[in-house]
Amino acid sequence: HGDFNQKIDYVFKIVLIGDSAVGKSQLLSRFARNEFSLDSKATIGVEFQTRTLVIDHKTVKAQIWDTAGQERYRAVTSAYYRGAVGAMLVYDMTKRQSFDHIARWLEELRGHADKNIVIMLVGNKSDLGTLRAVPTEDAKEFSQRENLYFMETSALEATNVEAAFLNVLREIYRTVS
Ligand code: GDP
Ligand code: MG
Repeated sequence: HGDFNQKIDYVFKIVLIGDSAVGKSQLLSRFARNEFSLDSKATIGVEFQTRTLVIDHKTVKAQIWDTAGQERYRAVTSAYYRGAVGAMLVYDMTKRQSFDHIARWLEELRGHADKNIVIMLVGNKSDLGTLRAVPTEDAKEFSQRENLYFMETSALEATNVEAAFLNVLREIYRTVS
């Protein structure tokens, strides 16, 4: 079968960053395998997952890196960022602190990554709307000021997860093609 040794035109490395427990690993498992787990343990040892898709008749392999729990110790290393062409900067919309830390994550990202990196600010857990602690407008303003894309998602309900990753991938594709 041809699709088992499909020719890959591009490999795009995308990194997930943001505080612990905001839903990075679940966003990744939703996008890569269409799976979700409510009782996910802190990620240990998983480096990345991939998903291959077609953009503009080209075969693109998205290689998406997860922090493997390093975010708790602010010990995300420069190797993690190396070669990344996209980043998902994730906060939990029910945890104000996780949004307040975004500026720090962005600074770290910009200090390590390529200057043309495509960045999407992601407000996750939109299914918990009644517990919202971060107004959409605050995040929108921040993203405009910092020149980031922005979306609110739910890994649980699969809302906007596909759209968020696809937007980043298309934008990366646009810059390299
Ligand atoms: P990480 O530390 O950023 O990788 O966060 P996880 O992906 O491990 O998620 C932390 C917790 O939040 C887990 O209990 C998840 O099941 C839960 N979670 C992740 N995404 C969502 C979401 O979209 N909605 C809800 N309600 N819970 C979520
Ligand atoms: Mg995790």
